[in-house]
Parts: sequence; C-alpha cells; structure tokens
Amino acid sequence: MSEDDTRQSPRSWVYSFSEPNGPGRELLGGKGAELANLTRLGFPIPPGFTITTEACRHFLRHGEAPAAMWDQVRAAMAALERQAGRTFGRGPEPLLVSVRSGAAVSMPGMMDTVLNVGVNGDVAEQLAASYGESFALDVHRRFVEMYAEVVLGVSADPIEVAKADARAAGGTSRIEELDPPEARELLTHMITLVEEEALRPVPFDPGEQLRSAIEAVFRSWMSRRAVDYRSHHGIPEDLGTAVTVMAMVYGNANRDSCSGVLFTRDPATGERRIFGEYLARSQGEDVVAGIATPQPLEAMAESMPEAYGELVEAAGRIEAHYEDPQDIEFTVEGQRPYILQTRTAKRSARAAVRVAVEMCEEGILTSERALLSVPADRVYQILLPRLDEGEAAMARSGGRLLTTGLGASPGGVTGAVALTADRAVEMASAGRRVLLVRPETSAEDVHGFIAAAGVLTARGGATSHAAVVARGLGKPCVVGTEAIQVRPDLGRITCDGRSIEEGQDLSIDGASGEVFLGALATVEARVDEERHLRRLLAWADQRRRLGVRANADTEAEVALAREFGADGVGLCRTEHMFFDGERILAMRQMIMAENPEERRAALARIAPMQRQDFVELFGIMAGLPVTIRLLGPPLHEFLPANVDELGDVAARTGVDPQALRRRAMELSEANPMLGHRGSRLGISYPEIYDMQVRAIFEALHETAGAPVDLEIMLPLVFSRAEVNLLRARIAHVAEEVAADKGWTPSYTVGTMIELPRAALAAGSIAESADFFSFGTNDLTQTTFGISRDDAARFLAGYLEAGVFTVDPFVSIDPEGVGELIQIATERGRAARPELKLGLCGEHGGDPASVAHCHAWGLDYVSCSPYRVPIARLAAARAAVEASDGHSEVAE
Ligand code: PEP
Ligand code: MG
Repeated sequence: MSEDDTRQSPRSWVYSFSEPNGPGRELLGGKGAELANLTRLGFPIPPGFTITTEACRHFLRHGEAPAAMWDQVRAAMAALERQAGRTFGRGPEPLLVSVRSGAAVSMPGMMDTVLNVGVNGDVAEQLAASYGESFALDVHRRFVEMYAEVVLGVSADPIEVAKADARAAGGTSRIEELDPPEARELLTHMITLVEEEALRPVPFDPGEQLRSAIEAVFRSWMSRRAVDYRSHHGIPEDLGTAVTVMAMVYGNANRDSCSGVLFTRDPATGERRIFGEYLARSQGEDVVAGIATPQPLEAMAESMPEAYGELVEAAGRIEAHYEDPQDIEFTVEGQRPYILQTRTAKRSARAAVRVAVEMCEEGILTSERALLSVPADRVYQILLPRLDEGEAAMARSGGRLLTTGLGASPGGVTGAVALTADRAVEMASAGRRVLLVRPETSAEDVHGFIAAAGVLTARGGATSHAAVVARGLGKPCVVGTEAIQVRPDLGRITCDGRSIEEGQDLSIDGASGEVFLGALATVEARVDEERHLRRLLAWADQRRRLGVRANADTEAEVALAREFGADGVGLCRTEHMFFDGERILAMRQMIMAENPEERRAALARIAPMQRQDFVELFGIMAGLPVTIRLLGPPLHEFLPANVDELGDVAARTGVDPQALRRRAMELSEANPMLGHRGSRLGISYPEIYDMQVRAIFEALHETAGAPVDLEIMLPLVFSRAEVNLLRARIAHVAEEVAADKGWTPSYTVGTMIELPRAALAAGSIAESADFFSFGTNDLTQTTFGISRDDAARFLAGYLEAGVFTVDPFVSIDPEGVGELIQIATERGRAARPELKLGLCGEHGGDPASVAHCHAWGLDYVSCSPYRVPIARLAAARAAVEASDGHSEVAE
C-alpha cells in the first residue's frame, strides 16, 4: 500500500498534545513530541496539537495536504476550543493560535512561524474588551506583519520602514509602547501596504488564515535557508516538518507579561547556572530575532519573582527528565509562566565537555553516557586558536579596540569584513578568510555563516539566532555590538566615528566579545589548562581499546603529541627532516651525486643532523613506541621547482646549472605517485636507507638510558621480496653499529600497507614483517585510482552528484579500502598471530574511520597531534557503542 493511500487505511495526520499514546519525533517533529511529552508530565504547556511530518511530505509531493487532514484539523480545533475555554474567530473570549514548524531534527529558526492566527478587526475588538486596546492593536499588527511575510511573501523592507516611521513619530524605541491612535494608524497603514505589495489582502476569515498559515509552514521546509542548513549539516531532504498549532498565551498582554529564552546551563561555558534573556511586553520571536536587546534573566527574579521561581523550578525538572541541558522558550502572561518549547540546548564545544563531565560528577550521567554525549570532533574546537593575549593587550592600549559586544561563541579569529552572506561566500571562495558582519541576527544568512570563519552582529543577544547558529557550527561569534552601524548599502561599517570598508580586516574574540581593528595573531589552546577536557579524556583512555599515536616529525610536533596524550609516534616521516636550511642543500648534493661514493659523502653531511633529530624525538617519547619510516617521496620533490630557484641552488651547491636542470629533467616522472618512491628508492639507492638506519641506531644508543620501543617502517612495499632485501640491509647496519659501540640495538621492522597488492599479499609479507601500518592516504589513492594530489579538481562535483557521500580521503571508504584492510588484517594475522596493526593515514583522526578501525580489530590509529584528542574520544565512543554491557569506568 502506498504511503498516500488513505482510502484503505484512515490515518491520523493530527495528534493532540494530550493524546496518551501519540507517535514519536519522526512524525511529530522534535517540538511536537516534546510538547506532548511535557503535557503528559504535567508541565504548564498551553493546549495544542501537532500535524505530522507525513502530512508535510504529502503536501510537498502533491502540492496539497490530504483532504482528511483538514477534517482532522477542524476536529482538533474544536477540541482545542473546549480545552482553552475560548472560541476561534469569535468572542467574547476569542481563541488565537500559533502555527509553528518543528522537524524531527532541530533546525533552529530555519523554517517559518505565524503567531496570533485568528485575529481580524472584529476579533480585535473583543480582545480589546478583555485586555485593552493597546494589546489588541499590537496583536493584530503582529499578525498582519507575520502573515504578510510568511504567507504572502511580502518583503520585510517596506514593513520595517513603516514601523521605523511609526516609532520615530511616537518618540519610542518600541512599537508596543505606541499610544492607541498611533498604533491604529500604523495597523491601517500596514494593512493597505501589505495589500498593495501582495496584490491581495490578509484574509479576514480565521479558518482561511489557519489553512494558509499551515501550508506556508509546510512550504518553508524548502526555503533557501532551510535547504542550505540541511545540506551543511547532512540532514536528509525528505524528512519534512511537523506543524504545531497551539493556543496563544500573551507575553505582550501587560507589564506583568514577557517572553524569553532560558538555558539550564550556560551554553557558551557549560557552567551550571540559569542563563537566558527576556523582554517585557513581547512575544516569542522578539527575543531570539534580536529586534530589541533583551534583559538578562536574573533581572526577572526582581521584576516577576514568583513567575521566575516557578520557571526555574520547572526548568530544573525538565533538565533532569531529559538528562541533558535544555533550551526552553517561555511566556509569562500576567505573572503566569508557560513553557512553549524545550529542546536540547546547542552548546559550544567547551560547554559540551564541561556539561558532560559535571553531569557525571553530579550523578546524573554515567561516565559512558558522558563520553557518548560529546561528538568526538567537537573536542577539536576547544583547541581552536584564540587571539594572542599579548597582541590583544597591545591593540587595546594602542586604541585598536573598536568596540565590545557580547561574546556568543568562543574562539578568536581575524577575517576580512563581508557585509552580506553572498559576499561572504564570494570572498571565501576567492580564498579569503572572512568575517561576516551583519546588522542583526538573520536566519537568511546561513550560507554566509558556513562560508565565514567568524560572525559579528550589531544587534541581538546571547540567545539570538546568530549566536545559536554560530555555536552550532563551532565558529567564533560576537553579537550585540550596538556601537556598530552596518551599512551594506555603502559597503562599510562605522563605529564611534571610525569607518571600516568591506574587505578590511577585523579580529573578534568570541569569548570576551571584543572587536579589534586589523589582524591579530592567534594562539592554540593547551589541553593541560582544560580540566574538564582532561577528565573526559581520562575516562576515554580507560574505556578505549585502540591505541592512539601521533604522526609527528619535528621536535615541536612530538612534544605536542605527548601533551595531547599520544601513546607514541605512529609515523615519523623522515623526509620532513630534510627540508630545513642546510639539510636541503646536502640533500640536493646527494641527489646530484654521480656515483655511490659521492652520494655517501653528501649523506655523511646529513647523518649527524638526522641522528640529532632522532635523539630529540626519542628523548620526548622515552618508554613509548616510535615508528620511523624510511624515506618515502620521489626525489624530484627535493629539487627546485622553477628556473629562478634552480639558478640559486646551482650557485649554492656549486653545481653547473645545466647539470642541475638535466638532473631535474631525469628525475621528473609522468606519474611520480606511482613511480620511483618508497622502498623502491631504498632498493635503488641503498646508501640512503643505510645512512638513515645508522642515524636511528646511533640515536638509540645515545638515549639507551630511557629507550623507546623502536619500530623501523618500510614505505610502499608490495612484496615480501622487497621486505627481505631491505630487512637484510637493516640487520647489516645493526651489526656494524653493534661492532662499533659494543651494544646491540633492539628494534622491529614492519611495513606500511599502501597498495592493494600489499594488502592481498599480506600473508606472505607478514612472514617478514613485525607490524603493518595502513597508509590509507596512498591506499585510498591506489584503490580508487584517483591521485591524492589532483582529486580536488572533481571532488566537489562527485559529492554534489552523490557519487561520494563523503570525501574518501577524509573518511575511510569501508566498502573498498576497508575491505582491503580487513583482508590484510586476516591474512597477516593468520601468518603471524602477534602481528601489530595500525593505521597512519589522515583517516586516523576522523571519528568515523576510528570507529571502523575499532571494529576491524586494529591495535592503534595514528594521526596529527591536534587530532589525537579526537581519536582518543572516538576510540572510547566506539568501544562503548560496541559493548553491550556498558561497564562503568572508574572515576
Ligand atoms: C599514507 O599514505 O597514508 C601515509 C601515511 O604516507 P604518506 O602520506 O606520507 O604518503
Ligand atoms: Mg604513503
């Protein structure tokens, strides 16, 4: 039976909040499901009902809602009238409703809402009799405005101009404060304006209002911002939105009324405290839309103590119920609080970690749940760069602090000012780091948010849209910089008499809210200063089975790897040690050598430097495993790339420029990635590996007091014969060193598995190798037959066309590359049960790939030092998710 076939199966398209056994969030959306849940639990929720996502999908497919749905909406409205004790579209107690979107996956502010549905001139008169004329006019004007924008598609600009004129004429900053005659004039003007713009009036009939508002909310699933948001967050296109219809409660009823947003913990820091904002005489969207700067929630404790107390108490119970911090939208009407929505609070990465750890310490979560509550790649954001303190201090004292707003999402960033979302996209695709600067928080700007490195807005509070969206995206954000005037029309912003043109650099500190002129340096955060992160990672270390090592070549990287908690070095690419100053010169002389003697002479100059590198590395990693890979890349990578450089190198090495050019030509390969590199180089020029191995052993001898667990790794092998040849040479050097020093080095020799043949021949290779490390950068390249250096040219197209759902160089391809890894693992272990297995491609720091490595039974992953904390957490999450028993780790 098709999904749409309603003849055979009468189905429910509509569910009351109070229905005891309603469906889940797939059908009711997050908002509808939570409102039903809270209603059942006895929280103060205004009565209402939800139209399912299935109805939306039907609407989007057929261009109309199912006929049966409208019958059910009518019946639900009749029930709602009874529950609310009011009548829709009639007095003496008229019922107005809100019509709001709510998908199964949270998409804050991306879709539409129409409030105060059911009002017209007659109804407004009835409302005036009970609530006063100002209120009735305010409600009516709000409805016309929202209906015009959402349903009739009227541009906000002329409406905003009309409101600005009315505010100026009335001498007030808020429309709600206008005297009735002025408010009436504005309303009349707006009704005419809307009719002129839309070429049709706002319907008088409340039933028609309701019907068209519901359809508009369905349609808003396909608005540009919603589509952009979904594509960025990987949310499926075909979910559709539910629609909640709820009896209005009025935060704009009088001075004892307000609307606001409450977070049960601070969403920026994670601190346990009630955090939020409210605005007296306002309705729901006012606070988040940033149209006026709201007051901090603490002030409500003074102005409406009882309502505040009830609200905080309910919020605490809601958080305890969900075992997760909540973002609660509320309204107080005449001192009586109502909850309009609750959802999992979006939070900064730092807040996510702190909340997880503290909720575990408070006994609300187990440490396993705490681990599962923080997506692994978020810990990366904690280690995001911040503005350099010294430079910021200098900028402050040098008059470069432009202004200070509200720090809404942490991290420090410098970017070129872009004044519209489209400009941000344009400038970012031209390769610039962009700061999106907008007058106010607007959900229309999502594509700009995605393109920008940071966001700055002139208006709005800490719960405004820009703040929420930026936090979700992990981008630094400052809001409410009221001294700034943003003038996209003039291509600049002004602030206290200073003018900054689009394209000029500004720097923002998303924690302190400071905005600086010009570019400032940024610094990295340190794990040891992050108590909560350290604790979470300590739990992760207790829980994970996979080892996490680092890919590190320089002393600084190796030190960072230790600081970030690496269990060792999984890949030291020795070629990276050859690029510095004098070394590259000696390396080039080595490449220019005509015979092995000359080559050895050049290598002899490199050897002491190489030995020193290893001494430093071994010193830092004492007691831990260190895998050193012998030289891997093709030799031409060490030669100058252009004519100018060629002349310079010829002069410095004393080599004839013609000869140098000839050598560069000789070494150039049609397909260097498949050419003379890796072990093939080691076999063609044995002196190179001899020098490297000797330097390694001598360094090991020098640090013999605190030795590392030394693993020498051969790159890009495809057969056991290659391993045997190279292994024999290593053994020979070991014997020489033993004879020289009277000391025998202890080491193992393993291979990278980077070629499909190597994976298939793993059984025989393992007979000569102590360990394998999957080099998935090359293995992906050679499995797909796609050059890792050139893939970018068509990757975007492949992603867009759906050939790739994710870049296989970023997240491992389980079907092809993963299959080869599993084959190699099985065959390798069958031949040598104690074979150690690791992975050291870029995938080692990708959470999804780490989870695969856990499932495939590898021993460790190795990734860049910054991603070590991600891999530690990802490995623990994989272990927790895979275990049935959820055994608790010690705390
Ligand atoms: C790999 O190929 O995955 C690898 C780690 O080696 P490199 O990136 O140095 O080729
Ligand atoms: Mg490789």
